[in-house]
Amino acid sequence: MPQSADKVLDHADLFNEPEYKAMLDNKRATYENGHSAEKVAEIGEWTKSWDYREKNLARECVTINPAKACQPLGAVFAAAGYEATMSFVHGSQGCVAYYRSHLARHFKEPASAVSSSMTEDAAVFGGLNNMIEGLQNTHTLYSPKMIAVSTTCMAEVIGDDLNSFILKAREKESVPADFPVPFAHTPAFVGSHVDGYDNMQKGILTPFWKDVARVADDSINIIPGFDGFAVGNIRELKRVLALMDVKATILSDVSDVYDTPSDGEFRMYSGGTTQDEIKGALNAKATISMQEYCSRKTLAFCAEHGQDTAAFHYPMGVSGTDEFLMKLSELTGKEIPESLRLERGRLVDAMADSQSYLHGKTYAIFGDPDFVYSMARFVMETGGEPIHCLATNGGKDWEEKMQALLASSPFGANCKVWPGKDLWAMRSLMATEPVDMLIGSSYGKYLQRDTGTPLIRLSFPIFDRHHHHRSPTWGYQGAINVLVKLLDTIFDKLDGAATGAGEGDISFDLTR
Ligand code: SF4
Repeated sequence: MPQSADKVLDHADLFNEPEYKAMLDNKRATYENGHSAEKVAEIGEWTKSWDYREKNLARECVTINPAKACQPLGAVFAAAGYEATMSFVHGSQGCVAYYRSHLARHFKEPASAVSSSMTEDAAVFGGLNNMIEGLQNTHTLYSPKMIAVSTTCMAEVIGDDLNSFILKAREKESVPADFPVPFAHTPAFVGSHVDGYDNMQKGILTPFWKDVARVADDSINIIPGFDGFAVGNIRELKRVLALMDVKATILSDVSDVYDTPSDGEFRMYSGGTTQDEIKGALNAKATISMQEYCSRKTLAFCAEHGQDTAAFHYPMGVSGTDEFLMKLSELTGKEIPESLRLERGRLVDAMADSQSYLHGKTYAIFGDPDFVYSMARFVMETGGEPIHCLATNGGKDWEEKMQALLASSPFGANCKVWPGKDLWAMRSLMATEPVDMLIGSSYGKYLQRDTGTPLIRLSFPIFDRHHHHRSPTWGYQGAINVLVKLLDTIFDKLDGAATGAGEGDISFDLTR
């Protein structure tokens, strides 16, 4: 055998050993009944043609590799940002394993959530008993301060009514009478994780603000939105708020729960927005959302309670950050301090320093609607050209906003916007109209392999690289981090293209 107790091989090496290669080849030949390698290569090439692209883009009845997740994942993420809150997902157990593993694989932290574990009998007769027992178990076993209930497809298909179920569970004393159990219906077959995030945010605020008189003060609420870089971004946001001396409440602060220290103590809960802060948030002068598509219902709810509202598209880059800071200044009456003006100048300086490498580079971008908008805007600020912008969970309204953004810059002239399309469609786009770089999540690595386009990981989920989420992408400082990633990719590509000493290595430069 190639490995022993004294010589343990990493799996990347182990499965390239002759024994394993032979075993896998034999399995393929004996059991898979596949086509010949030539046929597979021939069809593979055809799937990169314009002929196939037209068929692929006309596809309606099947989705292949959507760049989105289902609503409850967003609900679990939103609930995790509230102090000592356990997500309770009413429905099937496997769904919750998926949300937990997705979040844990991205943040490299344990992600807690429980399920009402509905099975066949509950699917036929309803899941009331699962709710009654589940809430009691959750309260007893995990000692949360709040349980936030959402739903999977299964509970939604059979029409379980969370409000009446939770009332019934309270009658049965599953939880103490005054224990908060906010809820949100999150049907997974419509919308995406950004809608689930929105529904849960509204669901959590609703019971705390119900029938309470608002006494307006001068504070601001900020909704960060669903964000794979939340740990770095929320901390950056707090730093900026402190610099501006703005009194703010972050509605769903996940920065600590997805970044707990290793010091011998397991923290199922860490940090998060407290219940006193949720109650106090009713009195805020305004609620700002960092991501419009993650907060439409919640902002409407805040407006109904007399607050001013404003929404941004993932403030990143120069103009994105300018817009955010100016609105914050307008709402609070606080000056933008000199230190932030200096940060802005440093970002512009860094972009100018690297202009000769950034100018004219072409990009394919995929991800959530706010992220794609923001990324395209920043790319254009650097002199780059977005060519394909795709959001599986983007709709008509997003498409129109993107078109207006692209029309505002000469660098947007060659870009097409693709709402509702998946990553298999992106493959056809990149094969027929190649670009210099691809920006998105880890799922883009298959596009990188198939098209040879380097992938820059800047959205959720990032499974195959570690700790990116700790560095901010928001604000002027965050934009410098993003800029460095773009430039590193450009320089790596240049170095990689240098084929050998004295031959094709004219740009293998030490100094750039
Ligand atoms: S789409 Fe439905 S079945 Fe699939 S994980 Fe989401 S809730 Fe569960």
